[in-house]
Amino acid sequence: MAFDWKLKAELEQRFGEFIRMDEPMFRHTSFSIGGPADVFAAPGSVDQLISFVAWVRKEGLPITILGHGSNLLVKDKGIRGVVMTLKGLPSEITLEQETDCQQLLAVSAGRPLHSVLSFAIDQALKGLNFATGIPGSVGGGIIMNAGTHSGSMGDVVESIRILSPEGHMVRIFRKSLSFSYRKCDIRDDFGNPVSDAIILEAMLRLERGEKNRLQQERDAILSSRKKSQPMNLKSAGCFFKNPASGKSAGELIDLSGLKGANVGGARVSERHANYFINEGKATAADMIGLRDLVRERVLNRFGVYLEEEVRIIGE
Ligand SMILES: Cc1cc2nc3c(=O)[nH]c(=O)nc-3n(C[C@H](O)[C@H](O)[C@H](O)COP(=O)(O)OP(=O)(O)OC[C@H]3O[C@@H](n4cnc5c(N)ncnc54)[C@H](O)[C@@H]3O)c2cc1C
Repeated sequence: MAFDWKLKAELEQRFGEFIRMDEPMFRHTSFSIGGPADVFAAPGSVDQLISFVAWVRKEGLPITILGHGSNLLVKDKGIRGVVMTLKGLPSEITLEQETDCQQLLAVSAGRPLHSVLSFAIDQALKGLNFATGIPGSVGGGIIMNAGTHSGSMGDVVESIRILSPEGHMVRIFRKSLSFSYRKCDIRDDFGNPVSDAIILEAMLRLERGEKNRLQQERDAILSSRKKSQPMNLKSAGCFFKNPASGKSAGELIDLSGLKGANVGGARVSERHANYFINEGKATAADMIGLRDLVRERVLNRFGVYLEEEVRIIGE
């Protein structure tokens, strides 16, 4: 714990109801890897969240927003400052009728993406089937512009509601969101980049579809993913982004003879070469060692430098 006792005592006195000290992050990541966060906060209401964030920012403590941890590699010494999850907030989803063929869906950012997909299919709304099999929250999905070749979050986001770095609740419309490959840049009304925004809610625009057809499509995507990806093992999905052109990262890794390669408890999946698996006791150092090995081999063989899709954070 990096804080002095006074700060720690104040934190506990003010926010003891929803914070924990030295929380191991391996409990909160799909890799099951990660050292402790100094402070781990799960506010139970938006009001609690706003006053907590205002206090944390006033004290100058760094704050990391955790979605569902499915795209994060947290280093072994953990995260200094505060990690905050939205999982304790009420998780809402409401339909807001727009036109006969389109519908807006207001969704809490901490809500699992798969539950929004199920809701959409139940309501015969199409546009989200690309999210089949993608774990994580709505907020994380937007920040990562999560998706596949058949679509991504940027295709359906109409607006988001954020807590700005200045502590204001602001709605940001689509024209101020710029989505690119596994990335979303947020700008304010004046075109200035907004960093450190905390997404609290999203408005998604979906179209009327046919429930049966949507269900069939989802089932087909799921069974094809199960065949080609190790979905139930400890990973963060694809470790590297695909290069802008040419072969995919998975193909390059496979052609470099690296399927099954390991460093400590971290291994390249036999099923999908761009998935790195924690076989049980992998550390972040093992994962980073595997990243370096794979990156170097692919660079030497194909002259392609692979960039991470997974976000590596902490110390
Ligand atoms: C088995 C498996 C399969 C996967 N398949 C895919 C796939 O097909 N396509 C794909 O794109 N990804 C895939 N992923 C990666 C991952 O699921 C996505 O990137 C997902 O959108 C991350 O969401 P999360 O809530 O887990 O975010 P996290 O991993 O917790 O966080 C990701 C980033 O978003 C930020 N963030 C999260 N929530 C908020 C918020 N409310 N406000 C502000 N910032 C926030 C975090 O600070 C972090 O920088 C896969 C992962 C796994 C484990």
